Amino acid sequence: MDEQMHRRAVQELIQKKFYGHDVLISKYTPAFPSGIEREYDRLSRQYMRLLKETIEEEIPALKEQIMKERGTYRTDSINDVLSLMLEVFNKIQERFVEKEEGFDLRRKLESFANLTRKLTIKEWKKAVRKTLGIDILDDYYMGEFYRAIMDRWVDENVSLIKSIPGDTLEDIRGIIKSGFLDGKSTTRIMKDIQHRYNVGKSRASLIARDQVGKLNAAVTEAQQRDAGIEEYYWCDCGDGRVRKSHKRLNGRKFRWDTPPVVDEKTGRRCHPGQDYQCRCRAKPVFKFGTFNAPVAGKEGDTVA
Ligand SMILES: [Zn+2]
Repeated sequence: MDEQMHRRAVQELIQKKFYGHDVLISKYTPAFPSGIEREYDRLSRQYMRLLKETIEEEIPALKEQIMKERGTYRTDSINDVLSLMLEVFNKIQERFVEKEEGFDLRRKLESFANLTRKLTIKEWKKAVRKTLGIDILDDYYMGEFYRAIMDRWVDENVSLIKSIPGDTLEDIRGIIKSGFLDGKSTTRIMKDIQHRYNVGKSRASLIARDQVGKLNAAVTEAQQRDAGIEEYYWCDCGDGRVRKSHKRLNGRKFRWDTPPVVDEKTGRRCHPGQDYQCRCRAKPVFKFGTFNAPVAGKEGDTVA
């Protein structure tokens, strides 16, 4: 079936839902994948715990080196002790790399990407079914359609999360060295290490809470535009966490080819879900003349 015939067949199926109008606002607002977001957050904490365990395993050895030096009062041995301490530090790095290999972060992130895609498809199909009374074919969205978006997301997230232990350990190396040379107490050095670890942990958690929404937004945009949706209504999630600038956009109609300004100062523009930790969604506006998607026809006929 050629493109035009296909579009006409789809139009025949959805015609009566439009009651002669050209546009139809979705009767359903796709939900935000909060469950997957929580799972990713949990994963980020598990991942960082590997680092915490590794540091804690080596801390007694590290303390011992610091105490030994402090006990001798021999300044000429400072460099020896320092190099022993950094040896301990290198061991932390090596041990972490071993543990990290067994964790298989990439595979876990791939599974989150798949879950997010599946949920986004489910929500999109729901919006189409509730509004137009038709079912979009499942397998259309399973293949190559999302491959590029998903692969990019996984690559980006692997490098975002993986960079954290590296940065944290690099800073901890500095804390140990300067703490020791400045004569800080062992307790103080240990506290500084703990603090730096907590900073890394928060950073991992922030990434987790930002990235699922980003993928959901990217998949949603691809889906809607592919189906000939040109406009959407901005929907915030109506709770206290919605930022003012997004509340201002709530309930207003925008075009996929012209994202609205979300930051008046900088003029920055984006679609729902693309902003930092944004949980807003795009409620599609179906247009009779442009809507086109592979649908299952009446009584099992396929219009693809
Ligand atoms: Zn938002």
